[in-house]
Amino acid sequence: MDIVLATRNRKKIQEMRKILKDGGVHNLNVLTLDDFPDCPEVIEDGETFEANAVKKAVHICRCTGLTAIADDSGLEVDALNGAPGVWSARYAGESADDAANLEKLLDGMKGVAPVNRGARFVCCIAMASGEDVRTFRGYVEGGIGTGPRGENGFGYDPVFYPEGNDRTFAEMSDKEKNAISHRARALEALQRYLLEEKESPKKL
Ligand code: IMP
Repeated sequence: MDIVLATRNRKKIQEMRKILKDGGVHNLNVLTLDDFPDCPEVIEDGETFEANAVKKAVHICRCTGLTAIADDSGLEVDALNGAPGVWSARYAGESADDAANLEKLLDGMKGVAPVNRGARFVCCIAMASGEDVRTFRGYVEGGIGTGPRGENGFGYDPVFYPEGNDRTFAEMSDKEKNAISHRARALEALQRYLLEEKESPKKL
């Protein structure tokens, strides 16, 4: 089965490929938007992770004629009333990079007591196939540190301590992060669905 990952984020592609490969769903041929350079970008203007993921997956499914998987993800920080949320990639402005977003987040958290630094990464994966669209969610709870630590990963990884850990996502190996991450949990839900489908296919 051919599947297109509707993202150009190299780190996400790497994570998703690895998780799908290790997840026991065989005969998946994983393509990316690089294989379809003519498919135009989608504007992520939804107010929820679901809305953005569905919009991307449906658009790429129509453009490629293949089953498309899109993820929309972000960080919800309690002390910031859930921000940056769906704005995670653009928190410090439309063309902001990870460093600028991280700096804005840490500025906003200055003086916030450890007990109030709770946050979670959220991931919604949408799979669009023909007229059928399904969504799968994953979370990882944790807290925000006071400064960046670690070199791995991307985005807000250097300030996010998953619950029960004294290391940030950026201090963990890919394998450690993929064992507990929001994206891994959402992909696991998708994989469970694909495996069940294989055993007892439902008519779409
Ligand atoms: P998206 O590409 O619209 O889903 O934007 C996701 C944004 O949320 C990224 O640019 C990061 O800033 C942040 N984000 C999502 N997942 C992760 C993660 O696993 N680690 C760190 N940051 C993440």
